[in-house]
Amino acid sequence: MSPEVTAKYPYVANAYSKELAAKCPAFAKQVNPDPRELEEDDYGPDPFGEEEEAAGCYGLKQRFEDRVLIMASDSCFMNCRHCTRKGLLRQAEVVRTDEELQTCMAYVQDHPLVRDVLISGGDPLVLPDEEVMRFVRSFSGLAQVDVVRLCTRAPCVNPARITRDLAALLGRSGKVWVNTQFNCAEELTPEAVEACTNLVRAGVPVSCQTVLLAGVNDSAERLLELFRALLRARVRPYYVFQCDPIAGISHFRVPLEKAQKIERECAERIGGLGLPRFVMDIPGALRKTPIGEM
Ligand code: SF4
Repeated sequence: MSPEVTAKYPYVANAYSKELAAKCPAFAKQVNPDPRELEEDDYGPDPFGEEEEAAGCYGLKQRFEDRVLIMASDSCFMNCRHCTRKGLLRQAEVVRTDEELQTCMAYVQDHPLVRDVLISGGDPLVLPDEEVMRFVRSFSGLAQVDVVRLCTRAPCVNPARITRDLAALLGRSGKVWVNTQFNCAEELTPEAVEACTNLVRAGVPVSCQTVLLAGVNDSAERLLELFRALLRARVRPYYVFQCDPIAGISHFRVPLEKAQKIERECAERIGGLGLPRFVMDIPGALRKTPIGEM
């Protein structure tokens, strides 16, 4: 493991991730540092201005009028090498105190168009249950909020974290959806499927936001295996993202024409329920842009 790479982008992996990486080369590419992360490219560490906060509101970001993102933690169970926030992990401004949380709630109440609150990070599930629920209850208690989205890779990288107790707490709120990330079918281990099942049985819908990654899942065959495995686990394949324009991940980026071809092939071979939207995030755009429009 190159110390130059890990000095810039730290290696973090829990025991479960290390074990899965040892069995699955496609997952290992997401965990293990690669010297190509230091190659020069045209990108910066934060193209979406995620370090900028909404005025006076520590840990809250707003890019779209109906949604806000709350940074509830700045660390993860493992540092995904392709992460959009790889330059910000363990450095991001996050909400911690009751006062900061109150300020974020006041911001949402001052912006009545906001209906969807994303609790993200880092991974919010590195926090203990009572901390997670402090965020969930605060926002699900606001009448204007329809959806509280918990953005976590725990079902994939630390499935034991999704206990039945936690799932029941999340389900009781009535507004929580879990957004997770699986990138290849091998990640749907029996433990991961059990984690998803705990959530679904507790009434928490689970959606998957996959990242299209060279050498991991950049073919229709690989993605279709994944989508079918997700459907078996009752997880909705929701988005496939082109890699974001950030520094340090160029070796994962799939050329646009190839991504468009993969999307067309998938669409011809799986029904709508199993077919996510293939999109890319463009700095300044007011929506996720379908790659077919590019
Ligand atoms: S879990 Fe999400 S936020 Fe954390 S390193 Fe992976 S992609 Fe980034």
